[in-house]
Parts: sequence; C-alpha cells; structure tokens
Amino acid sequence: MTFPDAIAVGYLLAAVLFILGLKALGRPRTARRGNLLGATGMFIAIAVTLLDRAIVDFRFLALGVAIGALVGALLALKVRMTGMPELVALFNGFGGAASVLVAGAAFLEVVDTGTVDDQLAVAAAVTVLVGAVTFTGSMVAFGKLRESLRWNGFSGLHIVRAATGAVALILVVGVVVQPDSLGWFWGLAAAGLLLGVLATIAIGGADMPVVIALLNAFSGVAASTTGFVLDNPLLIIAGSLVGASGLILTQIMCTAMNRSILDVVFSKAVVVARGSHDDAYGDGVTSTSAEEVAMLLEVASRVVIVPGYGLAVAQAQHAVRELMTVLEGAGAEVMFGIHPVAGRMPGHMNVLLAEAEIGYEHLLEMDRVNPTFAQTDVTIVIGANDVVNPSARDDAGSPIAGMPILDVDESGTVIVVKRSLSPGFAGIPNPLFVADNTLMLFGDGKQAVLDIVAALMEG
Ligand code: NDP
Repeated sequence: MTFPDAIAVGYLLAAVLFILGLKALGRPRTARRGNLLGATGMFIAIAVTLLDRAIVDFRFLALGVAIGALVGALLALKVRMTGMPELVALFNGFGGAASVLVAGAAFLEVVDTGTVDDQLAVAAAVTVLVGAVTFTGSMVAFGKLRESLRWNGFSGLHIVRAATGAVALILVVGVVVQPDSLGWFWGLAAAGLLLGVLATIAIGGADMPVVIALLNAFSGVAASTTGFVLDNPLLIIAGSLVGASGLILTQIMCTAMNRSILDVVFSKAVVVARGSHDDAYGDGVTSTSAEEVAMLLEVASRVVIVPGYGLAVAQAQHAVRELMTVLEGAGAEVMFGIHPVAGRMPGHMNVLLAEAEIGYEHLLEMDRVNPTFAQTDVTIVIGANDVVNPSARDDAGSPIAGMPILDVDESGTVIVVKRSLSPGFAGIPNPLFVADNTLMLFGDGKQAVLDIVAALMEG
C-alpha cells in the first residue's frame, strides 16, 4: 500500500467510526459507546493528518494544541452544568470562525498564485458566508442564553436583513466570477458577519432552541465546504454529518415548537417587557408550604413531576429522585413529563434526570404525558415556567402563541416550585400561577423538594 493509500484508508476508518458513533448516540443505552467510537475516530483522524506531510510545521501544531488544550481544560473545569448551553453556542461559533479562517487562508494563498478554479472559489465563498453567519449568530445566541443580551432589534429589521442577505448573495457571485478582486471576498466576510447578527437578534422565547440547532447545522456545513476548499474528504464527511444531524435536530425542534423554519428565520422583532410582572397577578396567587404539599401527596395515587430550567439551576435532580422513591414506597405512581425544550438545550432534562439514575421508563415525552394529566392527582412543576404557560395555548397574541405546552393545569392540583413570580426565558407572565387549582411553593427547587421529603417522612 502506498503512503497516500494508507492516509485514505485511515480517513475512511475514521469516517466509519464517526457514523457508527452517531448511530450509537441515538439511544441512551448505547450513547457512552457512541461517544467512545466518535472519540476514537477523531484520534485516528488527527493522527493520520499529522502523519500526512501536507501540513504546517509541527512546532506550530504543538503550540496550537497546547493553547487549545489549556483553554479547553480551564473551560471544562470552570463551566457549570447550567452553563453548558452557552458553551455549546460558543463551540458552534468558534467552529464557524475556524472554517472562515482556514478556508479564507487557503483561498488567499491560491489567489496569490493566480490559479483559482471554480470549485475552490464556490467552496471558499460559501464557507466564508456560512461560517461568518455562524460565528456572529452564535455570539448573539451566547448573549441571549446568558440573558446578558436583551436587545431584540428594531422595527424594519426584516427589511434590513433581507437587503443584507441579497447583498451577500451578490458578493458570493462576485467572488466566484472575479476571485482575484479581493474586494468581493472581504465584502462577503463583512456581510456574513452582519447577517449573523441581524438573523438572530430578534429571536427569543420559543424560537431560540430552533436557532441553536440551526447554528449547529451551519457550523457543520461550513466545515464541510472547508473540506472542498482543502480537498480533504474527511472534513467533507465529518462536516456533512454535523450539518445533517443539526438539520434533523432543527426539524425535530420545529415540529416540537409548532414552528416552521421560515417563521423562525424571518421572525420580526418581538418586544417583550422583561421584569417581574408581579402586578399582573394581583392577589390571585395562593402560596403553600412543604407540609401542606406533603399532605396532598400522601393521598395521591398518581403524581407527575415536570422539571424545567430551574431544576438545573437548583441542581435538584437527586432530591427529586429521593421524593420519587418515598412516593413510590407509599404506593403512588410517579412519572416525569418532559417538554422537548425544557431547560436551555435539547435533552437538558433527560441528562439531568439520568444523572440521578431516574429510569427512562419514568420519562414521558409531551405527547404521551399530556393525555394523562386529567387523571393525575398532583403535578409538581419544579423550575419550569414557559413550557407550562397556558397563554401559549389560549392567547393568540402571546409571543409564545402556538408553542405546544404541557397541559399541567388539567391535573387535580398543580404545585409550582420556584423562588418568586419572575418570568422564564420568554419574559412573559404565566396565568398558571393564579389558576384555581395551583399552589405556589416559593423557594429554591432543591431545598423545597428536600423539605417536602422531610415532611412526608415525618407524616
Ligand atoms: P423557563 O426559563 O421558562 O423558567 C425557568 C424558571 O426556573 C424561572 O421562572 C425561575 O423562576 C425558575 N428558577 C430558576 N432558578 C431556580 C431555583 N434555584 N429553584 C427553583 N426555581 C428556579 O424554563 P422552562 O424549562 O420552563 O422553559 C425553557 C425556556 O428556555 C423556553 O422558553 C425555551 O424556548 C427556552 N430555550 C430552550 C432551549 C432548549 O434547547 N431547551 C434553548 C434556548 C432557550 P424564579 O427565578 O422565580 O425561581
């Protein structure tokens, strides 16, 4: 076997491992194996690329690896579980930026020699556009997920966005037709960066999960087109896998949120007055105590627990597991209602509950749990807000109108555990808090659940 053949076989092996890894990641039981297969594939890919001499000086590589490893290790040690979605947004953005830099550098190098062919020009133009949009779009998503970026754009934003998109497409054509005139190239990079901000700045509430999934897909597309710039088959395959799986996730998220991708991407600026909204509730809120909740639970035969973002903030998963054990010991049936966008990243709640070793047979997705609320004695909502907000169902003017919710208000009694009447991610009031069958248990999610468990044990 010649050396180039060995390199090709190594890349093929890595690609097969990526595909098998992805397949295994599709099921909770085989996910660990999937992770290991993917990591092995990546190890082979890196080793083969290093053996292939068509790369830069090893000293530069060592420096890059050292800096990357240091930053990665610091982030991994510092980031809390609740910060994971922001970290994923950063990774997507850096993926886009890396594609722009690598493809851009390769393109500019060939421009100097005056031998740019059509494949290179098209691939470089698409990479620069998609990668730049991914970078700034992900930075905006990062700010929104941290809730440090509150700006939702301006009226007429959709017109400016459409105009910028049209200019970007003209610039793509310019790069392809006249690759040697670098004005097209730099103009395209600038238009892509601006478009990323304009495309994501107005998005919030129910549409945010879709955008995160879409940006993830874009980072894959940018990596894949970089593969065409570099003529590297492994990058094409790996990027396509990320792009395709990201698009599938986007589609799943759209279906779950009852949105079309066009609705999300072309959304107009939504202005939501953030703040406590306490006035909206008047004196309709009924608060309760852990002891009172324990008394209700003692006579309940079916209990559904609905986890949300606040459960992750409170790290209440182990306390919830304890509550489930105590209730099951007393003969009650305990299930968890999982909304597809509860928390701040797809699968957030599943990961949390799996950490506390709550079996998958206890987790009911939205379409399975909703028909059961009418036969549920007590539903305990812990740190969830938007995903149980009835205005999505009942108020056509609401910013989250049309988003499917968990119909917890159909249960006998609803206990809402949270620290205050503050809104959730969408920033809007929740009529559930003043419903006749709702009792509010104010406090930190973990402490409140531990107090309920203690009261049940005493009772
Ligand atoms: P929400 O963001 O609607 O509400 C979370 C609630 O948790 C808050 O109202 C907060 O109230 C409460 N909370 C915070 N800390 C604690 C604590 N320590 N103890 C108890 N409660 C606490 O969460 P949901 O899960 O209901 O909805 C998810 C939202 O995030 C949706 O709008 C979704 O669109 C969006 N989103 C989802 C993504 C995904 O992929 N899953 C990605 C991006 C956005 P208080 O401060 O009063 O305690």
